[in-house]
Amino acid sequence: MPVETLPPAPNLADYAQARQYFSWAAAQRLLSGLPDGRGLNIAYEAVDRHVATGRGGHVAIRAIGRTGTRDLTYRELSVLSNRFANLLRSLGVGPRDRVFTLLGRQPELYVAALGCWKNLSVLSPLFAAFGPEPIRNRLLLGDAQVLVTTTTLYRRKIAPQRDRLRGLRHVLLIDAPDRPPDDTLDLRTALDAQSGEWTIPATSPEAMALLHFTSGTTGTPKGAVHVHEAVVAHHITAGFALDLRPDDVFWCTADPGWVTGTSYGIVAPLTHGVTLLADDGDFDAARWYQVLADNHVTVWYTAPTALRMLMRAGSDLASRYDLSALRHIASVGEPLNPEVIWWARQTYKLSVHDNWWQTETGAIMISNYPSMPVRPGSMGRPMPGIEATVLRCGDDGRAAVTDDQVEVLGVDQVGELALRPGWPSMFRGYLHDEFRYRKAFAGGWYLTGDLARIDADGYFWFVGRADDVIKSSGHLVGPFEVESALLEHPAVTEAGVIGVPDEVAGEIVKAFVTLRPGYQPGETLRAELIAFGRRRLGAVAPREIAFDQNLPHTSSGKVMRRLLKARELGLPEGDLSTLERAR
Ligand code: AMP
Repeated sequence: MPVETLPPAPNLADYAQARQYFSWAAAQRLLSGLPDGRGLNIAYEAVDRHVATGRGGHVAIRAIGRTGTRDLTYRELSVLSNRFANLLRSLGVGPRDRVFTLLGRQPELYVAALGCWKNLSVLSPLFAAFGPEPIRNRLLLGDAQVLVTTTTLYRRKIAPQRDRLRGLRHVLLIDAPDRPPDDTLDLRTALDAQSGEWTIPATSPEAMALLHFTSGTTGTPKGAVHVHEAVVAHHITAGFALDLRPDDVFWCTADPGWVTGTSYGIVAPLTHGVTLLADDGDFDAARWYQVLADNHVTVWYTAPTALRMLMRAGSDLASRYDLSALRHIASVGEPLNPEVIWWARQTYKLSVHDNWWQTETGAIMISNYPSMPVRPGSMGRPMPGIEATVLRCGDDGRAAVTDDQVEVLGVDQVGELALRPGWPSMFRGYLHDEFRYRKAFAGGWYLTGDLARIDADGYFWFVGRADDVIKSSGHLVGPFEVESALLEHPAVTEAGVIGVPDEVAGEIVKAFVTLRPGYQPGETLRAELIAFGRRRLGAVAPREIAFDQNLPHTSSGKVMRRLLKARELGLPEGDLSTLERAR
C-alpha cells in the first residue's frame, strides 16, 4: 500500500503505555486555557482558541435542517456566541444563572451553549420530546431563568403552564413569527442588536457550567452539576475513544437533551477543531446513509438502538451508499449486542466500538479503542486516568457497605461497577440534594448503579442496572416520574413501572396500575391511560399498561418493581422476605 493511503495511527496507539504515562495535568496542557492565565473556559477551548490559532475559517458546524444545509465557521460561531453572551448580559443574566434549551440540533443550540459559557452562565439542555410535565419539573428544579426554544415547542409545552414557571424570566424563540407570543423575545432580532465583541471573564475551572438531569429509582430527577474543568476530560477522551483529529467530519447522533449530545455532540468535537454535523431530522435509515455519504463522515458516534434499526433495514440498503470516508464507529448508551458488531463488520467493513459512561461521569470512562481488538459484547477497558472496579453487592442489589468499607471483587465476579473519583468531568453534586450526592459514594469509590464483571484481561462486561431505572432507546427513564404522572389520572390509585425487553429499543416502559373503585379494566381505559401518559410525559411515557389490583409491596409499603419485573420475565422471584402481598 502506498504510504499516503495508510490509515493514520490512532491517537491511542498503545493502551498499556498510555495508562502508565497518563496524567490529568498533561491532558490539560493539550488545551490552552484563557489568555493571560485567566482560567479555563469551555467556550474558549471549543471555539475562540481555534480562531486565535488561525483556524477561524474552518467549518465548525454543518447544520442539516429541514430546508437545507448551513455551514458555520469557527469564526462565525465565535462572533455569534459573543452576541449571545452580550444578549444575556443585557437581560441581566449573569454567572451561575441557568439557561435552558429545548431544541433539536439547530445552529442556535450551539450558539446558545457557547454564549452561555462565555457569560459564565449555566447550560441545561432539555430533551425536546419530553412532555410538559418532565419539562416543568426540570425547569423548576433547575431554577431556570432563560429558555431558548422554538415557537411550536413554546406554544405546545411551555405557554399553557407559563404561570407556574414564575422564575423563568426570558423565553427566546429561535423562529419567532412577526408578532412573537406574549412574554417571549425573537432571538434573531435580539442577537442582531448585540455586539460581536466579547472578552470571556476570568473563569475558575471549578465554575459551574452544565446542569444535566438524570433519573434515579425514587424521587424527582437529579440535576448533576458539571464544571468548566470537564472540558479536559471531554477533549482527551474524544481523542482516545473516538479518535478525533482536526480534519474529521464527525457525526454524533445523540439528542442534545442527553449528556452525550453535549459532551460529544457539542464540546469535545469543537475542542478538536473538527467539522461536526448537526442533523435536525428524524431517524430514517436511507436518509442517515445519505447524510453519511454526502458529508463524507469520517467518525460516527451513535447508539445501539439506531444500529439495530439500521440492521433491520438491511445490508442491501447500506450498499447503495458510498461510505468509504468512514474510519471509526463508536456506540454508547445501552448494551451493544454482539450481532450488531458482526453485522456492522460485514456491512460497513468496520467494527463498532462500544463505550460506557453516564451523566454523572460527564465523559467516556470505559471504551474499546481503535488500536485494540474489539471483544463483541464488552464495553472495553477503562480510560487512561480512570480506575474502575466492581464491588460485592448486598441483598438490595447495590454495593454492600459496612462502616464505609466495600469489597472489591475478583475476575468474572458480578458486582456494582465503581470508579475512583477525581477526574475533571466528575459531577460535583446533585443540585439542591447533598444527601443523594453523598449516597453515591462509599469506601472511596463512586457507585455507578450498574452491575458489571471484569474478565481476566481487564475487559468490562455490562450485566444490568443495580437499580430500577429503565433504558429505552438509550434514554434513561425514572420509574417514579412515570408512576407519579399516571397517579394524576382519576382512575389510577397506584402504579408500578418497569422496563421490559424489546428487540430494537433495548427496553420499553411498562406500567402496572391499580384502579380506583368504580373503574373497570378494559381496552378503552388502557388506550386512555396510554394517551394520558403520552400527553404528560411525551417520549418517556409507558407503551404498555397492565391492570393489577394486587400489586406486590415491601413491608414499608412501596410497590416492588423488582418482583413485577421477575414475574413479567418469568424469572425466579428471589428473596421475598420484604414482600407483603396484602397490606
Ligand atoms: P445516562 O446517564 O442517561 O447517560 O445513562 C447512563 C446509563 O446508561 C449507564 O449507567 C448504563 O446503565 C447505561 N449505559 C451507558 N453506556 C452503556 C453501554 N455501553 N453498555 C451498557 N449500558 C450502558
